[in-house]
Amino acid sequence: MTVLGTYLIKLIKTQGPITIANFMAEALSNPQHGYYMKKDPFGKEGDFTTAPEISQMFGEMIGLWQGVNWLNMGSPGKIHLIELGPGRGTLMQDALRAMKVIPGLLDAIELHLVEISPALRKIQAEKLKEYKRPTWHNKIGDVLEPSKGEPVLIIANEFFDALPVRQFQKTATGWHERLVCLDHQNNLTLQLAPAPSPEQIIPTALHRADEGSIAEVCTVGENICSEIAEYIRHYGGAALIMDYGYDAHSTGDTLQAVKNHKYVDILSEPGDVDLTTHVNFHRLKQIALSHETRLYGPTDQGKFLKSLGMEARSQTLLAKASEKQKQEILTAFHRLTDASEMGSLFRVMALSDRGLTDVMGFEQ
Ligand code: SAH
Repeated sequence: MTVLGTYLIKLIKTQGPITIANFMAEALSNPQHGYYMKKDPFGKEGDFTTAPEISQMFGEMIGLWQGVNWLNMGSPGKIHLIELGPGRGTLMQDALRAMKVIPGLLDAIELHLVEISPALRKIQAEKLKEYKRPTWHNKIGDVLEPSKGEPVLIIANEFFDALPVRQFQKTATGWHERLVCLDHQNNLTLQLAPAPSPEQIIPTALHRADEGSIAEVCTVGENICSEIAEYIRHYGGAALIMDYGYDAHSTGDTLQAVKNHKYVDILSEPGDVDLTTHVNFHRLKQIALSHETRLYGPTDQGKFLKSLGMEARSQTLLAKASEKQKQEILTAFHRLTDASEMGSLFRVMALSDRGLTDVMGFEQ
């Protein structure tokens, strides 16, 4: 068992079962032994590959998208560019390089990275040093609070899927929370709470779900979305959320653990495997709308990238590429946009203040 696993077993022995959300929070962000706190999980040698690591075109398209928003906002002299969970800093590096073509934009930008991992912060600093000196924060509120009054451009790619969710299972006696507890041999196992939880926790659309159904609730993600929407409504700006997920409330256990590009048991090696869930975009959309922002999408990642001109960008890159690079560019384009790859499972949703009307990429 991992060090973190042994710690969790002790904790559960003395204090009783913990929720799936507590388990995820410990497994991913325990200050000493959490998955993201220890290492660089990305790429071929790591556990998983994200879109910005597949091709520079991904970050470039997002940089231009936010750049055009800045122009449409009337090119404010100061803008906070904020990325949530920047990983290796690759998306931001590509975005800032693309933004250079828009006169005045880089000078207007104050760069903020919301990142809990000290290991990844170091990699991000190195990646971005030729463009901007970022300020790091542990949570979005730490950026928004002191920025009050000034507009923001926010980017979150594969960030919301890493936030802790609670899971509830429908039984004859109501919705019971799934808990991590110990079996007779003191191994981690899952069990339902003996008493049902109040039904209000579950989205109304799911109340009549069949027995055995599982509902997931990501309170942390909902609160972050709410903070962003409320800020943008008052002080202006745009936010882009990209992740794997679903557009309508639905039941199902989407919690998955990945190590070395393979699925593994979620309880097997706490702290050494990545844990994610699918993002409930319907819920995020409802929250944004309740704060009276403009809302775009969710749409397919493939459609979004193509409508921003990624095909033309790939042609430009192909014209200068070696034979080997040509193959890589074509493969990357396919992986990012095709429905059989990341093109439609990955959703893109944006929100902006009501004054911003020409947001690109969501044409029907
Ligand atoms: N956006 C990057 C990385 C995605 S992985 C990419 O597309 O490649 C998730 C990222 O979010 C990592 O950088 C991780 O360290 C960070 N992270 C996870 N949970 C977080 C939290 N609660 N607060 C801030 N950052 C978090």
